[in-house]
This record gives sequence, structure tokens and C-alpha cells, in this order.
Amino acid sequence: MNSDFEKILENRGIKPTAMRILVLKELHSQSEAMSIYDLEQKFNKVERTTLFRTLNTFEENNLIHKIDDGSGAVKYALCQENCTCKLEDLHVHFLCMKCKKTFCLENIPVPFVQLPDNFEFKTANFVIKGICPQCHK
Ligand SMILES: [Zn+2]
Ligand SMILES: [Zn+2]
Ligand SMILES: [Zn+2]
Repeated sequence: MNSDFEKILENRGIKPTAMRILVLKELHSQSEAMSIYDLEQKFNKVERTTLFRTLNTFEENNLIHKIDDGSGAVKYALCQENCTCKLEDLHVHFLCMKCKKTFCLENIPVPFVQLPDNFEFKTANFVIKGICPQCHK
């Protein structure tokens, strides 16, 4: 099992350390995006700076992406295997107003927006708010 995670890290050019494998495992076990505070609660006695450094390394190597869902805390989610974190990989996110979980809707690309002249598109953050299937029950 751990060797699978090692392979995922190596495929992204990240040296697999014990800490990195732990964080990857945690992100992998969740269907929703996690904030640094969510992660902190999963690990005892792990320095926040260590977590930040780990997440930064993951992000730099396109293993995870950041989501600003307007809840105040930046959240992180695993990228698809072939993700290059380019514009064409941007997808819509869904924030449940009840459980406050944020989900990646990977199959729904961020809609193209025609900008006025001289406005250059760099990135987009598309968050839909509503009620998730779990909270609908
Ligand atoms: Zn990505
Ligand atoms: Zn919910
Ligand atoms: Zn996402």
C-alpha cells in the first residue's frame, strides 16, 4: 500500500519521505478537500510549518491544487493523475453550505469567460455553493 503512494510521489518527481507519504495518504482517504487545520487534526504533534512545506512541495509538483472556496481557509485536494494544473485542468468546486465540505467536480471545467481587451486571464476560482448529496439525505 505504501509503495503505491511512493510511486505516486515519484511519478511527480517528489522524493517520498515518511511525512509526505502520510500527508498524501490522508488526502487520498478523503473525498473532499482539506484545509491545513483539517490535516493538523489528523496528525499529532506535527508542526504546521512542516505541513505547509509538504503541501507546498505537492503543489509545486502538480500533485495537489489549492481551492479558495470563500470559507476563509484555503483547502487542498489531490489532482487527477494526468493533471498539469494548467487552465484546461481547472474545474468547478462545490462548497456544501451544511457540512462545509468542498468537493472537486473534476468533470465540470471552469466555463470560458470572454474578457474585455487587455485583460489577461491567469487563473479562475469557480465555486458553487449548495447542499451535497450526503446532506440531502
Ligand atoms: Zn492539478
Ligand atoms: Zn454536505
Ligand atoms: Zn479540485
